[in-house]
Amino acid sequence: MTIETKKRYGFSTRAIRSGEEIDFREGATGDVIVPIHLATTFAREKVNIPTAGYEYTRLLNPTRKALETKLAALENAKYGLTFSSGLAAETTILLSLLKSGDHIVAFDDLYGGTKRLFNQIFGEYNISVTYVDATDVSRLEEVIQTHTKLIWIESPSNPLLKICDIRAIATVAHENNLLLVVDNTFLSPYFQKPLDLGADIVIHSSTKYIGGHSDVLGGAVLLNDDANYERIQSLQIAVGAVLSPFDSYLTLRGVKTLALRMEQHQKNALEVANYLSKHPKVSKVIYPGLDNHPQHKLANEQSSGHGGVFSFELKGTVADAENFLENLKLFVLAESLGGVESLIELPAVMTHASVEKEDREKVGITDTLIRVSVGIEDIKDLIQDIEQALGSLK
Ligand SMILES: *Cc1c(COP(=O)(O)O)cnc(C)c1O
Repeated sequence: MTIETKKRYGFSTRAIRSGEEIDFREGATGDVIVPIHLATTFAREKVNIPTAGYEYTRLLNPTRKALETKLAALENAKYGLTFSSGLAAETTILLSLLKSGDHIVAFDDLYGGTKRLFNQIFGEYNISVTYVDATDVSRLEEVIQTHTKLIWIESPSNPLLKICDIRAIATVAHENNLLLVVDNTFLSPYFQKPLDLGADIVIHSSTKYIGGHSDVLGGAVLLNDDANYERIQSLQIAVGAVLSPFDSYLTLRGVKTLALRMEQHQKNALEVANYLSKHPKVSKVIYPGLDNHPQHKLANEQSSGHGGVFSFELKGTVADAENFLENLKLFVLAESLGGVESLIELPAVMTHASVEKEDREKVGITDTLIRVSVGIEDIKDLIQDIEQALGSLK
């Protein structure tokens, strides 16, 4: 059975089998999974013929290639590339597609590390960025300049769960000869496929839902365009930002259960969000899966689900928020998201501490806004933990 045919099989079949064709050739052992190929270099019999195309692991490695094939199948992409981290993937895209003097239009609610990369690193190389509220497509159009090359968005955003209209933004991008890059980390390809909505390049921090077990750092780029693929791939090889064979294996292992995990993350997130919505000590819950989310309808149109991350605001002071978080016994007080265990954090003090208080409050990241990445534990245990931690607040 060959699993290359992308649309013939369902999502989980592809997650389990794509990229891992069983090798029945003479001398092969029929491994059901792709082995971890640790070899850094590959021997050849003839001087000018690399064996099965393999020469040196930075260029191409069988375990990494299996993962790249699998992730491409899941995003309905022609090509996949995997990197040592999400930020390594972003860096490689920027280095391969931009040159000094170019301009990026970016969503103002991007992942902090992406903003730091744009401002502090690429800013030094004369690449400029204009941040706009991309939930309003007309604002985005207003800031496009003659030297703009990319539009870069994330939907839903972090930690405010704002939704960008990917289809409408792709239209604007293409009318202006620009490429649209979508960071799809928060929903994973299980719930959202930006390439199908018109995006040109999808990126992931596979550290989050794709890996899914908080034990492997990685990044991915998925796309359909031949020329851009070749540029990004050759740049990746040149700078060496590749995923290691062992990390490729861990990610291959994790992604097989993506559908099961995402369903359970979403189910638990909705229950916890509903519980908090009714709690007297909570002033606001922001989750695109709730019908009071201002963009609930758009979210339903472009995604098949809403994931496991949401934010809520506690009544009271930052000290109350800190007490609540420190009172939790099951929820883990930590940055990051997308693992099987529930993680919780205080953006104003943790992930978004580097953003000025005034700027934070302007967009809605108040001192008592709490972000949760709901895991797949038993829901009654999660609710009980929140109940006791809120109950012990004065
Ligand atoms: C974590 C994250 C990144 C960065 O990925 P790393 O794997 O940590 O380099 C980028 N975008 C989003 C939305 C993320 O959550």
